[in-house]
Amino acid sequence: MASELDNLPVITTRREEAQGFLQGLVSKGLGWARKYSLFQYPFVTACCGMEFMTVASARYDLDRFGAALPRFSPRQADLLIVVGTVNCKQAPILRRVYEQIAEPKWVVAFGVCASSGGFYDNYATVQGIDRIVPVDVYIPGCPPRPEQVLDGIMLLQQKIQGQQHKLIDRKPLPVVGQEPISR
Ligand code: SF4
Repeated sequence: MASELDNLPVITTRREEAQGFLQGLVSKGLGWARKYSLFQYPFVTACCGMEFMTVASARYDLDRFGAALPRFSPRQADLLIVVGTVNCKQAPILRRVYEQIAEPKWVVAFGVCASSGGFYDNYATVQGIDRIVPVDVYIPGCPPRPEQVLDGIMLLQQKIQGQQHKLIDRKPLPVVGQEPISR
């Protein structure tokens, strides 16, 4: 005689399927919302800053990507844009700023100096900020044209939309200063 317990695996599977379906919808919705509400923290160190200001001007209209408003506190930002050359003395400061941004967060390397050290191939310059923080999008150029920056922002939006987003993320809290560089 069949008991109630015989049905449990099927019920569990259906519940898991439903949860997976709902999680997929939530993830898609959160991804859509997050990719259009990027609050950038510009970490500007060098000449690329002039081009960064151009991108922020009305002509290129960053607002249509939901990324117009810079935040000057990492606690209010979710997108760290590193603009320009980073030297070894600045490296711990950059890492500290990254750690102060709440999850979920993303990083863009703006220009060849931030991406790879550029032509400053010397002992004092960090040869790419991915040695200090994980980078989501690299924008080439010295300095990059505003169109390249917009292209980079759109690439980042695609990446955000494709990521898994949860309403509540139960990851253990990191110990400040001891997190690994990769995510
Ligand atoms: S990439 Fe070129 S413009 Fe940008 S900070 Fe380096 S040297 Fe300056």
